[in-house]
Amino acid sequence: MENRLQVSVSGIRGIYPETLTSDVVFTFGVAFGSYVKTKRVFVCRDTRVSGDSLKNSMITGLLCTGKDVVDLGIAPTPEIGYIIEKIEPSSGVVITASHNPQDYNGIKFFSDKGAVLNADEGKKLLDVYHKRFFIVSKTPGFISSADYTEQYFNAIYRTVDLERIRKRRFRVVVDVCQGVGSFFTERFLKEMGCDVIVMNKEPAGFFSHNPEPVPENLKDLAGKVVEEKADAGFAQDPDCDRLAFVCENGMIPGEELTLVLSIKNILEREGSNKPIVVNLSTTALVEEIAKGFGIDVCRTKIGEINVIEKMRENGSIIGGEGNGGVIFPAVHYGRDSFVGMALILEYLARTGKKVSELIGQMPKYFILKRKIRISEEQKNIMLEDIKRRYSAEENVNLEDGVKIIRKNGWIHIRPSGTEPVIRLYVEGKNREIAERYLSEFTSYFPSP
Ligand code: MG
Repeated sequence: MENRLQVSVSGIRGIYPETLTSDVVFTFGVAFGSYVKTKRVFVCRDTRVSGDSLKNSMITGLLCTGKDVVDLGIAPTPEIGYIIEKIEPSSGVVITASHNPQDYNGIKFFSDKGAVLNADEGKKLLDVYHKRFFIVSKTPGFISSADYTEQYFNAIYRTVDLERIRKRRFRVVVDVCQGVGSFFTERFLKEMGCDVIVMNKEPAGFFSHNPEPVPENLKDLAGKVVEEKADAGFAQDPDCDRLAFVCENGMIPGEELTLVLSIKNILEREGSNKPIVVNLSTTALVEEIAKGFGIDVCRTKIGEINVIEKMRENGSIIGGEGNGGVIFPAVHYGRDSFVGMALILEYLARTGKKVSELIGQMPKYFILKRKIRISEEQKNIMLEDIKRRYSAEENVNLEDGVKIIRKNGWIHIRPSGTEPVIRLYVEGKNREIAERYLSEFTSYFPSP
C-alpha cells in the first residue's frame, strides 16, 4: 500500500525506481506535451539523486511532442511559476517529491497561468495519459537552458522595503536540508544584507533529516540559532515552496505562523478591503488577525490551486496554506518560501521587534497534525462514520473530508492527495483542548 505510485490531479509521487520509473516519467512527458497548448515548456528539478535521470526522461517525452524545452536545471518550484506567470508565455514541469523523504520523487505540472493544474486540468491530463491520446510530432522540439534567478529574486525584493531590511544586517541561520535552497538561499539572504549561516548544504539530495518543515524536524536549527545568537532561523522544504521559522530564543512556533506573520506584515503595511484566502486546515489565528483589520477570511479545499483560484476571484493581496505556504500575488500566484523570508524579515525591520515578541503579541492557538495509515476501504468507512455521527449535532463543513468547528477550536479529517494516509488536524485555544480533540478522534481509527 505504502509503495504505490500516487497519481492524482495534483501530481505524481513515488519511490524511485520502484514505482516511479523513467518509463512513467517519459510517458507523462509525452502526455503533458500532448495536453498542453504552449510551444515552450520550462523544466526544472529538485536535488534528489534520481532528479537528473527523471528530468531527462521528462524532457525527452516533451520533445517528442514537438515542444521546445527550457531546462533550468536545479531550481525552486516557485521560480518556474513566476517565470510562466510574469515573464515567458509557456507552461512548466518540476521533477520533485517536495517534502517527502529522499528516495521519493515526483512530478508537478504547471499550466500556462503559472500555477499547478486545477482539478479539471489535472483530470484532462490524466485522461490523455491513461487513454494514450498522444500527439507525436514529426519534428521534435529543441532544448535550451536559462537562468532567471536574478529576475526572480529582484521581483521579490521590489515588493519589500529592501533598504530597511539591509540596514538591520540580520544574522540568519537557514536549514536548506540539502534541497534546492542549497544553491539559492544564501545568495538570496545575502542580497538582503543578511549575515547567513547555512545548515545542511551538502551533499545535495542526501537529506540530513526528514525534510518536511515541521517542528519535530527543526530542533537542530533552533539550537543553532541560539548558539549563533541569530535574529531568526528559517527552514525550507526541498523544492522551496514551504517555509518554517524559529525565533531568536530558540522557540519553534510551528509552520502555521509563517503565513500568519506574512499576512500580518502585509495588512499592517498597506491594509486591504479584500478577503484573505486560506485552506480549511489553516490555523483559526488567521480569522483573528483579519478581524482586527475588518476583513473576511475565505476558506477553500486543500490544494494550493484552490487557494490561488479563490484569491484571483477575490483580488486578495495575500493568502496561502498553513503548512508554510505563503502566496503573495505581487510577486506571483504560488507558494513561495523566498517570499515568506522576505516578508518576515521586513516585518522585523519595520517594527524593530524580535521574532519572539511578534509571536508573543498574538492570541495563542495550539495545533496538532497527525497522519494515519489506513487502507482505502477503511478510509471511506471511517470518514462516512464520522460524518454521520457529527453532522446532525455540530457545525460541520463537508467541502473536503470532514471539518468540525467548535467554540474553542476545530477538527479536520481528510484523505491525503499525495500519500496513502488520512490527515487528522486539530486546533484548540490551548494544548489541553487540542489533545482532547486528538484523542477523541484518533479513537475512530485502528491503532497501527
Ligand atoms: Mg514543496
